[in-house]
Amino acid sequence: MPPKPRACRARVGAVHVIAPDVLEADLDMEDPAELEFDAGQWISVPFGPKNVRAYSIASTPRSSRRITLSADVEPGGIGSAWFRGLAPGQTVEFKAPFGGFVFQPADPRPPIFVAEEIGVVPIRAILMDLEERGAARAATVVYSGRDPAHMPYHAEFVSRARRDPDFAYHPVVAGDDAAWTGRRGTAAETVRSVVPDAAVIAYVSGGGQMIGEVREVLMARGLDRKSVRWEKFW
Ligand SMILES: Cc1cc2nc3c(=O)[nH]c(=O)nc-3n(C[C@H](O)[C@H](O)[C@H](O)COP(=O)(O)OP(=O)(O)OC[C@H]3O[C@@H](n4cnc5c(N)ncnc54)[C@H](O)[C@@H]3O)c2cc1C
Repeated sequence: MPPKPRACRARVGAVHVIAPDVLEADLDMEDPAELEFDAGQWISVPFGPKNVRAYSIASTPRSSRRITLSADVEPGGIGSAWFRGLAPGQTVEFKAPFGGFVFQPADPRPPIFVAEEIGVVPIRAILMDLEERGAARAATVVYSGRDPAHMPYHAEFVSRARRDPDFAYHPVVAGDDAAWTGRRGTAAETVRSVVPDAAVIAYVSGGGQMIGEVREVLMARGLDRKSVRWEKFW
């Protein structure tokens, strides 16, 4: 059972710009001193009554004293402004951990992970966690974005695919980025061409439209609705 959410306080450590509009921030836990969570879960940052923003934990449970968040600040609302304003030494308060977008270890079917842009955060955390625990499975990863600048962990996945023959990586770009020489199109089109049958369990994270399109493709293959697990960021 994942731990129950509780009020948390942490101090901001380093903040890094990892892509033009994507920042990573380390949070050093103060209360509790260690955060128990499952890879793929998220924290809830309050902005007044009934107004919160969710951020997936980009780091893995192995690092329980320091968690990392990763955000695309392009949307420009209160969540983005909060994230942009994070400065080393600042105290932040949030509730955590939340969410059921976590790996299902008892399911023997090969996993397919489908991420859109910053929606990759929980999927990358799950993949890193499985690898750290020596529990990695042969996995297919589809990563889509409007251009490579909006796919912050693309280079990391390319390098994992080079060293790990069980990691089938399929990046896909929707826009007309001149420098991109790889596959073009959508996540759903890519899933249609790389997933041969319904003998999979799918983990899909990003925008609602992409999730709906990917779910349709997989259900047309015969996968049942419950076998498509999803996290809707926007
Ligand atoms: C479970 C969960 C986990 C999340 N984890 C992360 C995370 O790890 N990193 C992260 O950056 N965001 C994450 N989000 C989204 C995050 O909670 C905020 O919605 C996001 O930061 C935008 O907040 P905002 O206040 O700046 O903009 P808002 O005012 O909330 O949004 C402005 C508009 O932009 C849309 N939008 C929001 N995010 C995006 C996006 N990335 N691309 C395109 N359109 C978008 C919204 O739907 C809205 O129409 C998560 C959301 C959920 C529900």
